[in-house]
Amino acid sequence: MTTAESGEPSSAIACPNCGGGPLSLVRRVRVSKALVEAELAHCSACDFLFLRDPSWLAAAYEESFYGDTGYVDRNLHAARLVRLLLVIGRLGRFGASEPGCDLGTGLGMLPRLLRDHGFDFRGSDAYAAMELIRPFCTPPDDGSIGCKTAFEVIEHVPSTPEFLRRQVGTTPLFVFSTLMRQNGEIPPPDWWYYAFGNGQHISFHSRRSFEAAMERAGMDPRWLVSIDGPVHRRALHMIAREARWRRAFRAAGWIVNRGLDGLLLPWLEPLAGLRCRIIPDHYEAMERLRSVAASRPSP
Ligand SMILES: [Zn+2]
Repeated sequence: MTTAESGEPSSAIACPNCGGGPLSLVRRVRVSKALVEAELAHCSACDFLFLRDPSWLAAAYEESFYGDTGYVDRNLHAARLVRLLLVIGRLGRFGASEPGCDLGTGLGMLPRLLRDHGFDFRGSDAYAAMELIRPFCTPPDDGSIGCKTAFEVIEHVPSTPEFLRRQVGTTPLFVFSTLMRQNGEIPPPDWWYYAFGNGQHISFHSRRSFEAAMERAGMDPRWLVSIDGPVHRRALHMIAREARWRRAFRAAGWIVNRGLDGLLLPWLEPLAGLRCRIIPDHYEAMERLRSVAASRPSP
């Protein structure tokens, strides 16, 4: 753990995470390919570490996937974890966990993999074309969504409480990833997760700062469960009101991180009533193309 290089107080603005402060300037950094000068700031009230006033985001998202070297492996692992979690919920009759929606889906690999294995999952993303999940990128009405996922999204969001309030709300299951610092830790300037070069990561949570965001969003911090990912510790998380979902998430993580899901899922998914959607989705995609073509005025 390193300490702040400069303890000089940042100007008198409130912390975007807890609404309090005081904030201190950790260091000035250059971010995005435009090398915009930015302030890395820390809130001593809630332990939130963040880049202030991100004015460079339009430039940062011109190449949305530049440098995301973990995208494919992360989605393969996430799909196995979510599949096993939802299968446990189906077999245990925990209640509706579908339809689901992957927020900030990017190419749409996670919802595509989940649909391939029978789950009713969609994708949404304000910054990406979602090539792999078209035409299933229209989320159903918010009230009916049983599970939302957001892998590598939280660190892109300027206000986590607002994201939790608006995007997650009362959804029974929210499964997500973000790498969490140790409480009180301020990583050194060369920490890979800062990714200052592309300027997309702006919020660096610890468990303590994330719990503060949950409280501000009206959520009980006890609903948060964190497990290790295959590469990074404290990288995978779930928010669920029901304790049985939290137990299921821990169990699913334990099984998937040992590779045992490959033995279980081929048996459990059919038992849970799941059927591959590859061919039905193909027909639906072709049908939608036909109806779009038919609705065009003839030349
Ligand atoms: Zn704060």
